[in-house]
Amino acid sequence: MSDPDCLFCKIVAEEVPAEVVHVTERTVAFRDINPQAPTHVLVVPRDHYANAAALAAGDPVASAELVTAAAAIATAEGHEDYRLVFNTGAGVGQTVFHTHLHVLAGRSMTWPPG
Ligand code: 5GP
Repeated sequence: MSDPDCLFCKIVAEEVPAEVVHVTERTVAFRDINPQAPTHVLVVPRDHYANAAALAAGDPVASAELVTAAAAIATAEGHEDYRLVFNTGAGVGQTVFHTHLHVLAGRSMTWPPG
């Protein structure tokens, strides 16, 4: 399942370059082009779903794999503490409508997020 107009589908298909750091059967993870922390990686399903809830409903195995991939990436980069974020909807900052889990680590963070 791919959307020809989707940036992250093009990264998964290797039609757009990205610094890929981790791959699994159902996911691809690459560094964010505009990092907000020393580690800022996006974990995406290979298939196109618009947001986290759509992925969980359509492919719960891939949904779980996003989280296990994120944990593996944080560990591989030496982080015991890390933040995982799914933005859902333009109103909270989602700009790419292909599910992606932000993995942020390597600096202190405040709560609540802005
Ligand atoms: P959102 O705001 O939708 O939660 O997150 C989208 C993320 O994708 C942003 O953090 C943004 O920096 C990142 N991004 C946008 N375009 C590209 C790109 O072409 N390559 C990579 N690696 N990241 C991108």
